[in-house]
Amino acid sequence: LRNLVLVLGDQLNHDSAALEDFDEQRDRVWMAENQDESTHVWCHKTRLVAFFSPMRHFRDELRGSGKTVLYHELPIDGRKARSTSFASLLAETLAEQAFEKIILVQPGDHRVLAALETTTREADVAMEVREDRHFYCSIDRFAQWSDGRKSMVLENFYRVMREEHRVLLDSDGAPEGGQWNFDKDNRGKFGKGGPGDVPSPPTFRPDAITRDVITMVEARFNDHPGKCDQFDLPVNRKQALRYLADFIEHRLANFGKYQDAMWTGETFLYHSRLSNAINLHLLSPREVVDAAVAAYRNGTAPLAATEGFVRQILGWREYVRGVYWTRMPEYATLNSLDCDLDQDVPSSYWDGRTNMACVADAMRLLIDTAYAHHIQRLMVLGLFAQLMGVHPAKFNEWHMAMYADAVDWVSLPNALGMSQHGDGGVMATKPYCASGNYINKMSNHCKTCRYKYNEAIGDDACPVTTLYWDFLDRNRERFTKNHRMVMQIKNLERKSPSEMDEIRDRANKIRRGDISV
Ligand code: FAD
Repeated sequence: LRNLVLVLGDQLNHDSAALEDFDEQRDRVWMAENQDESTHVWCHKTRLVAFFSPMRHFRDELRGSGKTVLYHELPIDGRKARSTSFASLLAETLAEQAFEKIILVQPGDHRVLAALETTTREADVAMEVREDRHFYCSIDRFAQWSDGRKSMVLENFYRVMREEHRVLLDSDGAPEGGQWNFDKDNRGKFGKGGPGDVPSPPTFRPDAITRDVITMVEARFNDHPGKCDQFDLPVNRKQALRYLADFIEHRLANFGKYQDAMWTGETFLYHSRLSNAINLHLLSPREVVDAAVAAYRNGTAPLAATEGFVRQILGWREYVRGVYWTRMPEYATLNSLDCDLDQDVPSSYWDGRTNMACVADAMRLLIDTAYAHHIQRLMVLGLFAQLMGVHPAKFNEWHMAMYADAVDWVSLPNALGMSQHGDGGVMATKPYCASGNYINKMSNHCKTCRYKYNEAIGDDACPVTTLYWDFLDRNRERFTKNHRMVMQIKNLERKSPSEMDEIRDRANKIRRGDISV
């Protein structure tokens, strides 16, 4: 046989470069559900279903188009699995059948690429890694842009992408509406009445394939966190396209305005919940951006909302991938705030049991759906972990386990970098740290919380607020050198020595678990 084309679980696009010159007689597709990828991190049940069901759907589509697919399906019964790792499954296939070459597109995980290189070398088979054309920006283009830059500011990269791909530009090549950025229009919060009736995204009732996967996951991975009984994500391209159209029609117009707002008991608000479908390549970022721009052009969505949404995909999403591939493998080891390796996420990050209303609300959503929206990730769960001093690699491990859209290239820069400031300023020039005041401003969580958001000491003090002052205090010397932190350090210096003693004492007790929050 000629080529063995590897299709990884997050590469489910029929126009993939790996499938380009596929010869049905001489080539085979190879796909594998494997135990190691599922237990390498202790995955949320919905995350497992969100990968395996679309893989099985894609396998059937490939077979339907005449391709032979060698597919390793995880059996329901744990004892019946053959090899457990991706590499050993591939080695088994290569020992059974001879191929001239392995072809794949760039994987989304540095560790997987390294394992494949070893396996193919040991089996003495050539391996060709092709460009992942799903992305706007190739890794080489990002490296060329970032080379020699002192700081890799997102805004600069985003403008280059807008110009190169001619997105939201007027006929003279200037930014639509005369501005590149409409962030100042995009910081709204819900008033006293809350968000009102936000149109819900479509739900897809599990078909036979998804039901089989759910049964397998519940049997094999029964002790894993989260639930999958409410699984309703798109599992094939047709459903993903419906999901996109629904977002554009019903929620894009308010996306920008309420991007940073939170509200107890709400689920997806005006967020698109499209990250899964895009990360699995069921949708291409280009068609998502084009659909949003078309909505602006036909008057369905305002410019600020459209620009805000485009920035997330053409800006942030491409940017984090560039950071990942130009900085790995060192990036995964960064720990710029010198956090203790033993400091893991709190137990409430697995079971949701906490008195903190903001954490409890984000965890409810996460446990049920393997999703939380950006501001819950960054300014609730990320913030609390950062203030607790959780090691950035441990935070990323937890993130990879709990979110259905987590793939290493996108999780690591966001979790270790943007959220925990583990990279010392590559992703964000200052840490995203705040006290309970921020959460109170952007949500209604503090109204019903057992803790008082504006108190730092005493039994009722908000743990976020106590830990915030302690965090600034612990990193005082480091942050004094950062001009963007000047105001926060000045405010810290207004605290009396006795109040600081009480803050340190309470913070240490929270961190050690002597005070359960
Ligand atoms: P929306 O709010 O509707 O945004 C639209 C789209 O923009 C998203 O679907 C996504 O494709 C893209 N996007 C927005 N922000 C980012 C970003 N910072 N990086 C990359 N893409 C972005 N996103 C993931 O896809 N996988 C992850 O594992 C992941 N980990 C994260 C961890 C932390 C701590 C933080 C703060 C953010 C993380 N993000 C991750 C980015 C972002 O939070 C999610 O993409 C978003 O919340 C997904 O929900 P949505 O589709 O409703 O997004």
